Amino acid sequence: MKKLVVIGGGINGAGIARDAALRGWKVTLLEKNDFCSGTSWASSKLIHGGLRYLEHWEFGLVRESLREREILLRIHPYNIQPLHILLSVYRYSPHWLTTLRFGMKLYEFLSTNSSLPLHETFTPKQLNAIEPGLDQRKLQGGIAYWDAQCPYPERLVLANLHSAEENGANIFNYHQVIRLTKKDDRIQSVIAKDLIHGQEKEFQCDFVINAAGPWIDEMVNPNEIPSRPMIGGTRGSHIVVPRFADGPRHAIYSNARLDGRPFFILPWLNYYLIGTTDVRHQDSLDELSPSFSEIDYLITETNHCFPAAEINRHSILFSFSGVRPLPYSGKKNPGAITRRHIIMDHAKKDGIANLISLVGGKLTTFRHAAKLCVDSAENKTAGHVTACSTAGNPLWGGEMEHFESFVTYTFSEAHRRWSIDEITFRYLVTLYGTHFKDVLEVADLHPGGFEKICSHGIDLKAQVIYAVKHEWAKTLTDVMFRRMPVGMNTSLGMDACEIIGDIMGGEWGWNEKKKRNEIDGYKNYVTRRLLSHQN
Ligand SMILES: Cc1cc2nc3c(=O)[nH]c(=O)nc-3n(C[C@H](O)[C@H](O)[C@H](O)COP(=O)(O)OP(=O)(O)OC[C@H]3O[C@@H](n4cnc5c(N)ncnc54)[C@H](O)[C@@H]3O)c2cc1C
Repeated sequence: MKKLVVIGGGINGAGIARDAALRGWKVTLLEKNDFCSGTSWASSKLIHGGLRYLEHWEFGLVRESLREREILLRIHPYNIQPLHILLSVYRYSPHWLTTLRFGMKLYEFLSTNSSLPLHETFTPKQLNAIEPGLDQRKLQGGIAYWDAQCPYPERLVLANLHSAEENGANIFNYHQVIRLTKKDDRIQSVIAKDLIHGQEKEFQCDFVINAAGPWIDEMVNPNEIPSRPMIGGTRGSHIVVPRFADGPRHAIYSNARLDGRPFFILPWLNYYLIGTTDVRHQDSLDELSPSFSEIDYLITETNHCFPAAEINRHSILFSFSGVRPLPYSGKKNPGAITRRHIIMDHAKKDGIANLISLVGGKLTTFRHAAKLCVDSAENKTAGHVTACSTAGNPLWGGEMEHFESFVTYTFSEAHRRWSIDEITFRYLVTLYGTHFKDVLEVADLHPGGFEKICSHGIDLKAQVIYAVKHEWAKTLTDVMFRRMPVGMNTSLGMDACEIIGDIMGGEWGWNEKKKRNEIDGYKNYVTRRLLSHQN
């Protein structure tokens, strides 16, 4: 069995681990932090073709993304749902309505196998009827079309990791790759530091795939500054605000008045997710937060689009930033840099025969990018490629035809067995798919497992135990942000961290001091990463 080491536990690393494990590789995945704590966490959560890429003539990327959208709707139906988007067009918009109608036809033409409805065009008067809060001044009209949304990318990453593990992969978080040991032109092993226990570990390998997102340049020669970097990342920021009066009833896609850039107001959880910006980023990749000018830009554009919103910095529940791992492209305008993924072969670039790096790519296209990476690894080690099966097999928990019918048909049995109410049941299926049962079985075995964690959400105490026992959760922050969305409730999890600390402490044997450290670490994370707009 050939050994593959995957560096990075974002969406791309997780997708590669799943694909390679399904093809019979012995996979080890190493993530320095927690899974989905990098860029994949900070995205707009759209599973989309990327309408705007058409203006850069990226037809291949749009076609690929639309095909992947359809596959993901099928293999991960509980956490990827169709999203109805209203594109509002103003006289100051960079494109006229007629151009956009043509673009929309092309978009639909490129999505040949789409199961989603076709677009509709609206006059300003019709728009006013369906979106009364939308600014009507200088409005040319609008187009309503369909894409998709993945409300919990963290769970999409976990679904890939579960699937990889079921097929024999070894998955490690808090393992930072610090060195690659080489002999001649080959990497022999990958050295990682276990950041929880402090020791170094060596992982033998036949091949290495570097999927460290914006960090990929650090992996190849960790102590050298690359002469020509692979990545030229740009920072994108979002703000999250509670739903406001006369706010959007659809997802809104518009162009910012200030600079014509694409601008989204998306319904997400019980909030609006508003983004995004696109600015060159040359500072730390590990401590990201939006600048005040990004925050003010997003506030101003929201108030332009929905004049009754009147949001300000105090309206923001939380804000966050991520760095797009875009290919290095000198001084090019950030918006024009391709969102395609590129596989960098280090045999050509650095004389290393068994290493490739994945540069760029989108959340939407991770499955196909993973396929191409594993194809390349197979070609370079065996000279031929075995069949990829990730498009045909449901992702972990996705063994259902359709989310709504699954909920309808399964609820009565679940209610009979566990006396669970429908809202909680639906919520558990959204997070765990068919594995909701595993969580409820954990609840059966633990006194208090069916109790809610706090009054701000519907998460159960059993989910914490499940996260620790079955989902690699090590810290309080892992559980609260990346196993379940307790940290994103209206109190940002402040009323839940004691209880979760107690449950985790019981599982891990934490003493009071360790528990306090975890709670302080969580609060500190929230302040630094989500509330920087308040400083
Ligand atoms: C603002 C914004 C909005 C976006 N919106 C969308 C969208 O709506 N739809 C869409 O399709 N795409 C979107 N994207 C793009 C998408 O989010 C990214 O392309 C994708 O998440 C990249 O995933 P990744 O796995 O390559 O990187 P990451 O998620 O960053 O994962 C890389 C991982 O490598 C780990 N790592 C780094 N160094 C080491 C080391 N030494 N050892 C071990 N591990 C290491 C990191 O901790 C990290 O977890 C958006 C991006 C941004 C920034």
